[in-house]
Amino acid sequence: MSEYDIAIVGGGCVGCSVAYHLAQRTSLEICVIEKEHHLATHQSGRNSGVLHPGFNYPPNSLKAQFATEGTQRMKKYCKRNDVPLDELGVLVVATNQQERQRLSDIQEQATENGVETRILDGQAEIHEYEPHAAGQAAIYCPEAASVDSQKYVYSLAGDAENHGVDFYTGYKVERIQTPNGTHHLVTSNGTITASYLVNTAGLYADKLAHQMGVGEKYQIVPFRGEYYELVPRKRKLVKSMIYPTPDPELPFLGVHFTRRTDDKVIIGPNAVLAFGREAYDNTQFDLSEMLSTLGYEGFWKLFTSSKMIRVGLTELNKSYRKEAFIKAAKSLLPAVKSDDFRKSYAGIRAQIVRNDGTLVKDPLFEHGPRSTHVLNAVSPGLTSSLPFGDHLADAVLDQMK
Ligand SMILES: Cc1cc2nc3c(=O)[nH]c(=O)nc-3n(C[C@H](O)[C@H](O)[C@H](O)COP(=O)(O)OP(=O)(O)OC[C@H]3O[C@@H](n4cnc5c(N)ncnc54)[C@H](O)[C@@H]3O)c2cc1C
Repeated sequence: MSEYDIAIVGGGCVGCSVAYHLAQRTSLEICVIEKEHHLATHQSGRNSGVLHPGFNYPPNSLKAQFATEGTQRMKKYCKRNDVPLDELGVLVVATNQQERQRLSDIQEQATENGVETRILDGQAEIHEYEPHAAGQAAIYCPEAASVDSQKYVYSLAGDAENHGVDFYTGYKVERIQTPNGTHHLVTSNGTITASYLVNTAGLYADKLAHQMGVGEKYQIVPFRGEYYELVPRKRKLVKSMIYPTPDPELPFLGVHFTRRTDDKVIIGPNAVLAFGREAYDNTQFDLSEMLSTLGYEGFWKLFTSSKMIRVGLTELNKSYRKEAFIKAAKSLLPAVKSDDFRKSYAGIRAQIVRNDGTLVKDPLFEHGPRSTHVLNAVSPGLTSSLPFGDHLADAVLDQMK
């Protein structure tokens, strides 16, 4: 039986970042346990790969702080470690008067968060950046970037490994038993023991936390985000990233165009209730996970407002009807036609919902018995992963004193 000081469950960007930061500043015996045979198989490898500087998040929130700092730190990290990263900037486009007004609020927030932005007034100014985008006005943020998220996670893991961290891939933690104050992590491949546990299990973080009596007023509600991609001959229509103006009441950004580091242009994601935490296709479902979501009081309370029901139905329509998805995309880029879109991959967001139906918008972690549980590594969790992992490493070492 292997014995560690700290076992980290989950080999996504958050788990690998905590491992990297802990290993850099201690000589403790640390391991990362991942149920899949590859790291970054779920959220950390199935996202838009965009570094979101905190221009769009409430000033003084943890989210804004981590996103702004995370963008800068990740750019330096990726350059130092040859992780593909393109500093393309992002354009947030307003297509009507109401959205036009919202751009000013976004710019105010950006300034408070220390993020540079520029308002582009009218189609001509927009076309200087994105010759095919449509809109009345836009906000341009030059700090946004596109990154290869899987290579980034593998680079972090490599650094952690070089500092002595052991990685167990293909080990699913099935049960946690804690006789005499030591955690016995019973996995699909044997038992690993550790004095301290860090739970960064993403879509299953609540399940592990609940086993230890932590975070019981929260549950993860999985929201699938599906992508299309432009056929290669149409990729030239998009130079960087084109986003719609976000609705401040909604946790998701809306269908957008992103030029990835491999030069593909992806469009999405939408946001539909997933019929299972890893049900990536809209025909897949996991009955017990579906029932657990549908039986959760917080889920029903979330959908009591007519706005959330309307948004939910619109997103569902985009999932099952390609034309509805394309209509949303065409409002930003009218030159594209239905034949220019190919179905691409999907990701599932681990959205934590309180049992009173509120969505938790900031990163959230709680401590339990000799353990720390990341309950909400909410988007932009990839962007935030270096400062968040750093902050968590401090919190863990503090708890261990
Ligand atoms: C569609 C989509 C688009 C996004 N776009 C962006 C973006 O452009 N920019 C951005 O900054 N953020 C984005 N995000 C958010 C970002 O991807 C996540 O916040 C981040 O990846 C969360 O990382 P994580 O390590 O917490 O979770 P994960 O990457 O999901 O890692 C958790 C790991 O735990 C493992 N695990 C679970 N249970 C167990 C168990 N019992 N035993 C062992 N291992 C287990 C899983 O297999 C998984 O590998 C997006 C997310 C999605 C879904």
